[in-house]
Amino acid sequence: MSRVYNFSAGPAVLPEEVLKEAAEEMLDYRGTGMSVMEMSHRSKAYETIIQEAEADLRELMNIPDNYKVLFLQGGASQQFAMIPMNLMKNGVADYIVTGQWAKKAYQEACIYGKANKIASSEDQTFSYIPDCSDLPVSEDADYVYICENNTIYGTKFKTLPNTKGKTLVADVSSCFLSEPVDVTKYGVIYGGVQKNIGPAGVVIVIIREDLITEDVLPGTPTMLRYKIHADNGSLYNTPPAYGIYICGKVFKWLKRQGGLEVMKTYNEKKAAILYDFLDQSGLFKGTVRKEDRSLMNVPFVTGDEELDAKFVKEAKAAGFENLKGHRTVGGMRASIYNAMPIEGVEKLVEFMKKFEAENRK
Ligand SMILES: *Cc1c(COP(=O)(O)O)cnc(C)c1O
Repeated sequence: MSRVYNFSAGPAVLPEEVLKEAAEEMLDYRGTGMSVMEMSHRSKAYETIIQEAEADLRELMNIPDNYKVLFLQGGASQQFAMIPMNLMKNGVADYIVTGQWAKKAYQEACIYGKANKIASSEDQTFSYIPDCSDLPVSEDADYVYICENNTIYGTKFKTLPNTKGKTLVADVSSCFLSEPVDVTKYGVIYGGVQKNIGPAGVVIVIIREDLITEDVLPGTPTMLRYKIHADNGSLYNTPPAYGIYICGKVFKWLKRQGGLEVMKTYNEKKAAILYDFLDQSGLFKGTVRKEDRSLMNVPFVTGDEELDAKFVKEAKAAGFENLKGHRTVGGMRASIYNAMPIEGVEKLVEFMKKFEAENRK
């Protein structure tokens, strides 16, 4: 068996310990004689799995009691609709558009009400986070929406926008559990888990209880109401049971690492290795404004498309997978989520140095 260094933006690398545990429990989960995949979601064993997952996540993120944690399906993209359907009481919401995912969320919200684009960084291919200290937040906005870490462009909000008292809704798919957050600053925090937590098919929604009401847009399907899932402890229908089980194992792994404060330090150290190299390289360069750089997704280019392609190909042959940039940006992107070991980044930088020496112009 040989494992590669997988720099995929998602689905992405998971901790090896977690994969091994899951493999060991595959045929017989703790004396039940069956896999978690084969188990009733109403069974005692499964009840323990989902309850522990929630408790561990609450502990890791220090989630206050007046927030619900929901394990849902449909990916992050389904939340693009679910959020306006459930939260647009006045039919108005403000969007800060810092990348493709925020743009898609904004476009989806336009279907349901008056969505305002109150800031954008599209003028410079989303390579920075706009100043959000004094935005024209709408008087009657039901919420202000951000994508906190922009997976494709590699930017991250280092300070949250001033929402002028309005509810903040954040897509944290690609920075989930990468560092501590103050949950009380948000009305809704949500993310697809396939970037930094688990297998695709689960989306986690952390939502303040007062935002969960029966008062949703007309025609909102039962399955897209937060209330039905909250009232049923995420077991209204069959949840993505196996995926939640793996998420639970990742939560326990994070606790063993020492929690989110420790992960933040580790992630900063890891990202610095790559950014420091990029900043002094004569061949490679980062594409993002320095102060807005993501700790999780690091896009870079050589400035020559052919050379980029050559790099991606040679890197793959050397065991560094999925370094090709997003199809809308080109170049390269290294996603270095929680489960990417520091050796992976060190070895990548060594490889980049060697490539640079061989391809200096
Ligand atoms: C990947 C991603 C999405 C889309 O996730 P799906 O689960 O495929 O719908 C949305 N937002 C962000 C920030 C992402 O990284």
